[in-house]
Amino acid sequence: MGTQAAINEYNVYESAEARFEIAARKLGLEEGLYKYLKYPNKEITVYIPVVMDDGRLEVFIGYRVQHSLVRGPCKGGIRYSPQVTLDEVRALASWMTWKCAVVNIPFGGAKGGIICDPEKLSPAELERITRRYTAELSEWLGPDRDVPAPDLGTDEQIMAWIMDTYSMHVRRTVTGVVTGKPIDLGGSRGRREATGRGLLIITNRALARLGMKISGCRVIIQGFGNVGATVARLMHESGYRVIGVSDVHGGLYNENGIDISALYDWVHGQKKLLVDFPGGERTSPDEILFRPCDVLIPAAIENQITSANAHRVQCRILCEGANGPTTVLADDILDRKGIFVMPDILANAGGVTVSYFEWVQDRQGMFWRESVVNQRLQEVMEHSFDEVLQYAETHRVNNRIAAYMLAIDRVAKALRLRGIYA
Ligand code: NAD
Repeated sequence: MGTQAAINEYNVYESAEARFEIAARKLGLEEGLYKYLKYPNKEITVYIPVVMDDGRLEVFIGYRVQHSLVRGPCKGGIRYSPQVTLDEVRALASWMTWKCAVVNIPFGGAKGGIICDPEKLSPAELERITRRYTAELSEWLGPDRDVPAPDLGTDEQIMAWIMDTYSMHVRRTVTGVVTGKPIDLGGSRGRREATGRGLLIITNRALARLGMKISGCRVIIQGFGNVGATVARLMHESGYRVIGVSDVHGGLYNENGIDISALYDWVHGQKKLLVDFPGGERTSPDEILFRPCDVLIPAAIENQITSANAHRVQCRILCEGANGPTTVLADDILDRKGIFVMPDILANAGGVTVSYFEWVQDRQGMFWRESVVNQRLQEVMEHSFDEVLQYAETHRVNNRIAAYMLAIDRVAKALRLRGIYA
């Protein structure tokens, strides 16, 4: 097993591996299983030819990494962003394996991405890119093989195109091939809010554990997209005081609390810039992370809290909405500051949990009320929180390593039972 000494802090794959390694060592994982779980099962690169609206032929690069199928079909989102790299997709795929295992749902892990800037593409171009990417991957996808979902830069409409393209290839309608679909196409009630709702449930549980009160509890959220805006809204409605928010263009800070319902309408209804919202002091997108608060929720992108700035974080609870917002070298600094960390593979697992419910509903052809979805989500998140905390106490490790240990233990157990097919 390697060491943390030579790590490139900003390479998310190396960060993911370093945590895996610490947890595997604490668990005393056998060398063979360590090697097996360290590497992905399969990495697919596709070159996607697309005729652009102006008639030019462009080629985009797309990836799908299937990290593990040990506990079930692969599961994981698809990201459209100019920053996508194979290493990033690898890291995100392994996090999906651990995340599904932490919340104990019967999936392995995968992730996909296309290097493109969705903001610069027309809907017709996005549709062509999505359909060709899906067609190229069709033999590896399927409800029993690999089930994508939305992530940064992708949404319900893109999931609908994936479902349609896959269905055309297999000559029948297969709703269960993707999750995060529109409700009219086999999507689940509550899926859109699920990641944010999961973050709320985990934060509530953390507050109870630390003897803190919800009323007036000061929250700062980085990112105001699917995850950030939803958790902001749900927390505001639950009595938290959201004092800071930011998106890629800038941040807003108001220690008396921001009117999140009005801001939500401003950004997502009226399509105006978050930083132009009256009722707060303007900051830069990342400066918001370092203002004093009780709960800090990074819900944008990776590598936001690093060895260079972790000493500036001033919260009691760090609840990770984004995947990989904290680098491995920042972990020790946060530990020394006594910050209670709710790691991404636990805190943001609400999305994949309701994706699992969606997959179950599609296979049953029977759909649940939103209250049933939310109730089942709450049970899964609370139980998983308790299990992670139990591991942390038993093994005397921080919550992040505890979550990895719980996950690796579960996947390794399944792998030992299955054995290695020669
Ligand atoms: P999104 O595209 O809907 O929103 C991203 C938000 O982050 C936007 O408001 C954007 O302006 C902001 N942002 C981007 N760069 C920023 C920067 N440098 N500083 C501040 N803000 C910045 O994406 P999303 O679905 O909300 O995903 C956000 C994060 O949550 C990602 O890390 C994703 O992997 C993770 N996640 C998403 C889900 C899900 O269900 N969508 C589930 C689990 C984890």
